[in-house]
Amino acid sequence: MNPNTTLIGIRGSRYRLDTPALVLDLPALQRNIARMAALAGRHGIGLRPHAKSHKSIEIARLQAQAGALGISCATLGEAEVMVEAGMPGVLITSPVVGANKLRRLIELGCKVSPGQLMVVADHPRNVEELAVLASTLGYRLPVLVDYHAGLHRTGVADAAAAVALAQQISGSDTLLLQGLQAYGGHLQHIHDQQQRAHAAANLCEEVKALVAAIEAAGMPLEIVTGVGTGTHAFDAAAGVFTEMQPGSYLFMDWDYLRALSDAAHPAPFETALFVQGMVVSVNAGEWVTVDAGLKSLATDSGTPEVAYGLQGASRYEFFGDEHGKLIVDAPHRPKLGDHIEFITSHCDPTVNLHGYYHVVDDDTLVDIWPIQARGRI
Ligand code: PLP
Ligand code: MN
Repeated sequence: MNPNTTLIGIRGSRYRLDTPALVLDLPALQRNIARMAALAGRHGIGLRPHAKSHKSIEIARLQAQAGALGISCATLGEAEVMVEAGMPGVLITSPVVGANKLRRLIELGCKVSPGQLMVVADHPRNVEELAVLASTLGYRLPVLVDYHAGLHRTGVADAAAAVALAQQISGSDTLLLQGLQAYGGHLQHIHDQQQRAHAAANLCEEVKALVAAIEAAGMPLEIVTGVGTGTHAFDAAAGVFTEMQPGSYLFMDWDYLRALSDAAHPAPFETALFVQGMVVSVNAGEWVTVDAGLKSLATDSGTPEVAYGLQGASRYEFFGDEHGKLIVDAPHRPKLGDHIEFITSHCDPTVNLHGYYHVVDDDTLVDIWPIQARGRI
């Protein structure tokens, strides 16, 4: 049992959690969900938010209640969790490759009604294998052509390859050409707003031309998807994408908070995700040691920032698997047992380190949600 369960509903319990604990500010989360939904509504663009960030059935349901078309998943494992939970409109945004995974994909397809599970593809051999296996489904499996979008992580290499793959999909009896995906992941975290807007506009032009080329070859595309938190405002207004798949807007980690705000404008979303640690050793002269290290905080985008529990300037350094070094000015040094909350530098991999969200409203723990797709990497 989660040791914090007994604290649910007790006022002031937020800052008494058994640590390290992933903390989710529910009102902030709800405001972020509502803001993105309102923006999508204003621009008449659909929203299929990405479950890679939250990996949670409860949060996917909140997004659906706010009008999401469905849910995007990075992995087959995440999609299995979302389908089992009854989520409609599941889109797998990475190509599913290899015999084992393709078999699992088709098994999953058997559990949904037609159109409720979609997958991207970027290679003729993969499409060929999909087409053979999909013959057991009893309906045509919707497939989106994945375009590299300048990132070159996955996706077809150019417009000619996109048209050819679209033709292969639409020529198959067992597959349905559903659309195009172009996710510009490398644009999302550009901190300079103008540069990010410019890069997003360039990609939109490229995608527009790609859609035109495929449609000119006689293949209409129902879905044109992509878009993360960093470029959502530009892409929503551009009228090229039919839907967006942002994830991090829910939580707003430190990197996104910096990227989406400047001196004149606060970020359009607020931080809702924190990691709470405790001061577990105070004997070193210049720092204290907390119980949140690289097993509770992602390390790839820098160090976390203190959000609660400290006065004055501080600096966090990773101090091993289970610990962090917190360098604090002497007059503000915290005491043994003090609770400190951090804003993580990168929300998605941080969530994947934890088993539960400790859901809080102000200073009260109100619920504990398991992170069902945690580890479904
Ligand atoms: N779509 C894809 C394919 C992604 O890989 C990601 C994140 O990495 C997202 C959407 C969500 O982007 P963000 O977390 O920037 O909103
Ligand atoms: Mn991320």
